[in-house]
Amino acid sequence: MSKKRFYIETFGCQMNVHDSEKISGVLSREGYSPAGAPGDSDLIIFNTCSIRQKAEQKFFSELGRIRKLKKKNPNLMIGVAGCIAQQQGKKIFRRAPYVDFVFGPQNIHLLGELITTAAASVATEDNPDVANADLPVTRGAGGKAWVTIMYGCNNICSYCIVPYTRGRERSRPSENILREIKELAARGCKEVTLLGQNVNSYRSDRDFPELLEEIDALGGVQRIRFVTSHPRDLSERLISAVQRLDKVCEHMHLPLQSGSSRILGLMNRGYSCEDYLSKIRMLRHSVPGIAITTDIITGFPGETEDDHTKTVEALKEVEFDGIFAFKYSPRGETKAAAMEGQVADEVKSRRMGEILDVQDSITLKINKKLETSLQQVLVEGPSGTDRKMRSGRTRSNKIVNFKGQNSSVGQTVTVRIIRARKHSLDGEVV
Ligand code: SAM
Ligand code: SF4
Repeated sequence: MSKKRFYIETFGCQMNVHDSEKISGVLSREGYSPAGAPGDSDLIIFNTCSIRQKAEQKFFSELGRIRKLKKKNPNLMIGVAGCIAQQQGKKIFRRAPYVDFVFGPQNIHLLGELITTAAASVATEDNPDVANADLPVTRGAGGKAWVTIMYGCNNICSYCIVPYTRGRERSRPSENILREIKELAARGCKEVTLLGQNVNSYRSDRDFPELLEEIDALGGVQRIRFVTSHPRDLSERLISAVQRLDKVCEHMHLPLQSGSSRILGLMNRGYSCEDYLSKIRMLRHSVPGIAITTDIITGFPGETEDDHTKTVEALKEVEFDGIFAFKYSPRGETKAAAMEGQVADEVKSRRMGEILDVQDSITLKINKKLETSLQQVLVEGPSGTDRKMRSGRTRSNKIVNFKGQNSSVGQTVTVRIIRARKHSLDGEVV
């Protein structure tokens, strides 16, 4: 009898991408093999995101499209995972009765049971053991790997749904993390990205700077990255670890969210814009040339033109290497969704446009300074825009596209930057 086949459609952040690797690992253990397309599979899993309304709408429209496959093949099973699954639980069956089972991010370990019982099962219980029980992971080919170091989030930023969907913070024991990274290195992995919603508040038998120190001392892996850091938890010891440890890359993603301290207070972020700027100064002083990227939310409830101007000024002052900007999206049970002063969508769009324009010119200016420089690029594969070109990243996380048919995935090559673009660099192997 041929093996049953599965297809996973993933929405959202790196955390979800890595959760899909775990879902894939569990399904392989259960005897399933991956299918190339939804139409060729016996089981389709949607790994969903609810961070903004747009992501939620996208999932429900994809789910609607899959319905016709189920009509053609009544044995096809459909599972819904991730943050929407956690938040909506059995409500999903009301909206889509053709879904067979629903499970949250803390219940991936139950997938084996769910596919045998199916029939409208829901697994969304809090799982206190999530950080201790490691799951099999099926990773794609290449020299890079995600490694979860902690689950959940204890911050209650007033706009954010994550604490409601991923539960409270739980850190993995350091020995499990080190074991996983050693195994990855033995299989040729060159770069690990440590994952957590608030990665720098990691604490088990070690704290985060101590964990970095131990990973740095392991052989094999050449680059260590981590996302996402919270500005409030950026300590002098962490900055010193980034400065001292050779394998820790010179890049930090440090979400500012707003340049207005008043709005940061309403967001419950736990720092003012001045606190943030002083940490950036410390970081730049200790790690010269470090690339810093950020997240910005436009149109948070009560945001005035003056608050918006403060955000634009902060962007000009910090000169981030890149930003992700989002229009504020009210989320179910969060405090901000019920706040007065919700901002009209056209105002959010206009402010976001202004923010992106300012940032585009800053990014291009920073990238231009790299023209003619030599960069160590870890090769990731063919370029997304031109399959004849190779693509990889610098230690500072900038994408470089270059001619180099002979360079293989996972290899580090020296590339001269010949042209800066807004979102990438062009180079040639030297
Ligand atoms: N834990 C990280 C942090 O504290 O920055 C990131 C969490 S979230 C997955 C990634 C980004 O989504 C946030 O930094 C924020 O900018 C954005 N975001 C979260 N909730 C949002 C909302 N309701 N509307 C718009 N953007 C949101
Ligand atoms: Fe959401 Fe704030 Fe936690 Fe980040 S730190 S996941 S924005 S609650």
